[in-house]
Amino acid sequence: MALETLLLDYDAAIRIGLLLGIFTVMALREAVAPLRPPRISKAIRWSNNMALAAVNVALVRVLSPLAAVGVAFYAAEHGAGLLNIFPVPYAVAIPLSFLALDLSVYFLHLLFHAAPVLWRVHRVHHTDIDFDVSTGLRFHPVQIVLAAIVKLATVLLLGPPLLAVITFELASTAITLFNHGNMRMPAWLEQALRWIVVTSDMHLVHHSIVTAETDSNFGFILPWWDRLFGTYRAGPVAGHARMVVGIESFRTERELWLDRPMLNPLLREPAARLRSVSASRITMEDEHEQRFAG
Ligand SMILES: [Zn+2]
Repeated sequence: MALETLLLDYDAAIRIGLLLGIFTVMALREAVAPLRPPRISKAIRWSNNMALAAVNVALVRVLSPLAAVGVAFYAAEHGAGLLNIFPVPYAVAIPLSFLALDLSVYFLHLLFHAAPVLWRVHRVHHTDIDFDVSTGLRFHPVQIVLAAIVKLATVLLLGPPLLAVITFELASTAITLFNHGNMRMPAWLEQALRWIVVTSDMHLVHHSIVTAETDSNFGFILPWWDRLFGTYRAGPVAGHARMVVGIESFRTERELWLDRPMLNPLLREPAARLRSVSASRITMEDEHEQRFAG
């Protein structure tokens, strides 16, 4: 219990330290050895992605950052949730809970892509036209609230140990920055890492303009669900360095400014998400570059 108390007492400091620390390390790594050269000014993307993150942080702060831990505590006190009704050893309950929480995020991500109304909200994350650590901060506030509600429901249903919830929350903060990194990694290291965690090379595929590639690699922290449920894709057809990132309908630089992602869910996506974006589209990257340049 002492570890939980310590982590809870310093929750805000640990989270902010983790966020700033990992963001800084990733930003430096991206500056030194980017996988893909940025096409859009980082000043524009970062200021707007960070502004969106600030809205979300404020929202989450208002809605209580410890809500998930609070629900886990409530479940333990009231004997609610599967693991309180059917207790298992602590050493089993922790990894089991971590797996279950990550699996629920995987399924929610699938749903965000499959249900048209949810896609409107989630596509804001996909409208970034470069991919780097700041993309990991770009989410519509409605997605943040919906994800929080699903997490609270999962925790109530599961009744996980507090430590599992706390470590999952901290890992979430760290991994979302890590797996949006625009960085080169030695191939042997990346190949080894992607067996235990979703790497940026694995997640980059999910940001492809090619629909079949967007609809793959939904994993958040653990890479196993995609392999298990057949949504795993090793890499984009065009290659990681040359693939086009974003959504066909929202690719102007103007889309990056804060008001656009905030209002984007209200817009109709021309041709219903252009489900037809096919592998042939990936050969048109040069044309895109010209369009941006002009
Ligand atoms: Zn997605």
